[in-house]
Amino acid sequence: MKRSARRARSVLFGLTCLVVLAGTGFCAWQLLTRPAPVQAAAVPSAPPIETQAPTQPPETTQPPETETTQPPETEPQIQTLELVAVGDNLIHNLVFRSGWGTDPWNYDHLYQYVKDDISAADLAVIDQETIFVKDHANVSHYPLFGTPREIGDAVYKAGFDVILHANNHVLDKGIENVYDAIDYWSDKDVTVLGIHNSAEDARVPKIVEKNGIRLGMLNYTYSFNGLSLPSDQQYAVDVLTNRDKLMADIAYLEAHADMTVAFLHMGAEYSVTPSEEARRTVEDVVAAGADLLICGHPHVLEPYERYTAQNGNEAVVYYSLGNFVSAQTELDRLLGGMAKVTIQKTTTDGQSVTAVTDFDLIPLVTHTATDTSYAVYKLEDYTDELAARNLLVPTSTQRLWDRFHEIVGDEKPS
Ligand SMILES: [Zn+2]
Repeated sequence: MKRSARRARSVLFGLTCLVVLAGTGFCAWQLLTRPAPVQAAAVPSAPPIETQAPTQPPETTQPPETETTQPPETEPQIQTLELVAVGDNLIHNLVFRSGWGTDPWNYDHLYQYVKDDISAADLAVIDQETIFVKDHANVSHYPLFGTPREIGDAVYKAGFDVILHANNHVLDKGIENVYDAIDYWSDKDVTVLGIHNSAEDARVPKIVEKNGIRLGMLNYTYSFNGLSLPSDQQYAVDVLTNRDKLMADIAYLEAHADMTVAFLHMGAEYSVTPSEEARRTVEDVVAAGADLLICGHPHVLEPYERYTAQNGNEAVVYYSLGNFVSAQTELDRLLGGMAKVTIQKTTTDGQSVTAVTDFDLIPLVTHTATDTSYAVYKLEDYTDELAARNLLVPTSTQRLWDRFHEIVGDEKPS
């Protein structure tokens, strides 16, 4: 930016105008009110270039008397945001045992090979399927999971920004541990979705602003595995059966955010195709205005697509991202995905349109082991040597790639 040259030109021009049109001040005024050029996408947050000549007195409070001779600025301003999301962080016994050999317990190894992608994204989202326990004595396996808080530390260090907690295991250790999870995250720079420690907090859905784009986000679960919320604390977890609240949240976000993103915990476990019930919910949520849906719970991958509701509303829908980390013992359950979504906001003459301009699914695989080699890999980085040593499901990279394409198709949807 040649700001000094621009200023010098402005000064010279201003002085010339003063000489030629002394007494009127008209030309100088036009200089002052000429709109600054706006840069396109490269630096969306760049401040406007100052056009005020240093020798002129400030006249910014004076309203313009005539229209400028320049046409109004119509070049669109483009802002982009890259969001990534992963599936269920499901901490079985083999997973928590992989990091309890040190003092303090440490789980950084789990995410070390995907950390770069997570950190590089503007927003990275994870479903924390299992609830934290403060005391290591309460750490537990299926069916009532209790997860060491050190898992949360590793999740945070990996670079996740948005933590989903509305899922069917959230009440496994009682309502107090829901509040304990909120407490745990409270001193970290993350947005926690789906759980609330007050009716007030539950009343207004969250909006996260990044790169000038306001993303409204919500997270709902289909159930609690037969457990239930205390009658006086129904606000604590967002539940899909409370359709009125879900619809009100979407309406609020449609009115107050640039885009509405719904993270829905639902579907049929171990089915690689979306259930009828999940499809009905997707239809309702897209029809209500949500623009991006990222779902999980089946513990296996399901397809993703650009979906059009019956009323014509469109959204990008990921039906299930599968497991992120687990110790489940089938190939499909070790194969997960990282949704990678580019969101673009285009502003022209003060009017903005925000849309998903690109979306992809990066295949992931959980490498299971009895030690700190337990880790999530991008399938493109996984080797046949590692695949053969995958403790729970020895396999090959070809088999994993074939299965990935069988489930989500050969072509990337557009
Ligand atoms: Zn689940």
